[in-house]
Amino acid sequence: MDRVLADDLSRLPELLQSARDFAAREVSGLDTRPVAHLGKAPDAEPLPAGGVGAEGALARFAERWAPGFSASAGPRYLGFVTGGATPAALTGDWLTGAYDQNATGRGDSSATALEHETLGWLRELFGLSEAHTGAFVTGATVSNTVGLALAREWLGERLGVSVSEAGTAALGPVDVLSGSPHSSIPKALSVLGIGRDRLRTVPVLPGGREAVDVARLAEALDELDGRPAVVVANAGTVNTVDFDDLRAIAGLKERYDFWLHVDAAFGGFAALSPEHAQLTDGIDAADSVCVDLHKWLNVPYDAAVQFTRHRDLQVRVFHNASSYLGLPTGEPDFVHLTPENSRRLRALPTWFSLAAYGREGHQEIVERNVALARHLGDRITDAPGLRLLAPVRLNVVCFTLDGDPTQERVHSLGRAVAESGEAFMTPTFYEGTHALRAAFSNWRTTEADTDRVADALERAVSSL
Ligand SMILES: *Cc1c(COP(=O)(O)O)cnc(C)c1O
Repeated sequence: MDRVLADDLSRLPELLQSARDFAAREVSGLDTRPVAHLGKAPDAEPLPAGGVGAEGALARFAERWAPGFSASAGPRYLGFVTGGATPAALTGDWLTGAYDQNATGRGDSSATALEHETLGWLRELFGLSEAHTGAFVTGATVSNTVGLALAREWLGERLGVSVSEAGTAALGPVDVLSGSPHSSIPKALSVLGIGRDRLRTVPVLPGGREAVDVARLAEALDELDGRPAVVVANAGTVNTVDFDDLRAIAGLKERYDFWLHVDAAFGGFAALSPEHAQLTDGIDAADSVCVDLHKWLNVPYDAAVQFTRHRDLQVRVFHNASSYLGLPTGEPDFVHLTPENSRRLRALPTWFSLAAYGREGHQEIVERNVALARHLGDRITDAPGLRLLAPVRLNVVCFTLDGDPTQERVHSLGRAVAESGEAFMTPTFYEGTHALRAAFSNWRTTEADTDRVADALERAVSSL
């Protein structure tokens, strides 16, 4: 064994203790460190011939790289939709690495049974029936891609071809309809060989809504003259967190032949709050469902879940068995269900957080985040020079500058807030206007944090 490696092996408990001490310092500093790092990253160095050992690597990381890392796990990082990691989720994440299980099959470990238990918990949390089975994947983009891969196979079945065997060309052009799809949907269509151009956006409801107009969706389906299609329904849009009427869309299945995929990446968490749960009514009728976990569940990257009512199709698309063995039967191993072959036990952080805090603990996070979004919305309404661009429907505040919201001025506002180190928000373009979004999904965020964000915004506006 390499001498440095052997030395690390002999000191493994102390090394883990150093890592623990370092991580504890970093995590407890999240409230005080600058939220975003805008400076230049270190230049890349050549590959070391001989190593410095884990302790030496930690020292180098602390010196060269740690200072440039953002406080994205902290309470005032409101860009994109970014959760942090609950204490239990972080514990689970550490243990995922420590155990290093290959959660592929069940021959040698109970790890995949733990993933099944966790999937059952999530199904219940999001109000899905046992008709849905699922798997952990790396994020909502991959979850959407898996859902749409099943849709593609289903379309083939309707037309009498096996896409997984004959290829996408056998299918001919595919129609994908959606009101306000996330950018990951065209990306998935590109990956799947369906093509970005096959996504047709259907008009949304009038009055500043991002929810699809179901009557217009019905018209679009009607125009297909019985040709089967794919509908992507959106449960939580990124700008204004609007929800399609899932029950009404599912009702169209009585008249039209389509696969219903629901992108509930973070909107699925509305189901945890009695006040908002009706927004996800009808989700169980979907053929496939995407929910992200590294956003509002507050587990570390990279974790999302995909659910479907069509596991038979999932096995056809993703099975990894030689043809002479045939398709797996019974409860197929995850290796036959996901894009990966080998895969980490991605369920463990989720298992830990749900075991530690239960439904009620996670409900509290969701409800607090929604209340804080409303609070920031009120502060922005009252602040000179700022105006809300949409009502605060759930956990995102979409706002812009009063007067002259050019791209340059709005981006300068976002940059000034980031440079203050107090908060981080991401720009968007909504209803023809350049804007900023503040998305609340971190478990640590308090009202005091929200006031700090609002204060930083007000200072930045007055200095523009
Ligand atoms: C974030 C998001 C995605 C993509 O999620 P990743 O985890 O970043 O791949 C897809 N859909 C919606 C609605 C999202 O908010």
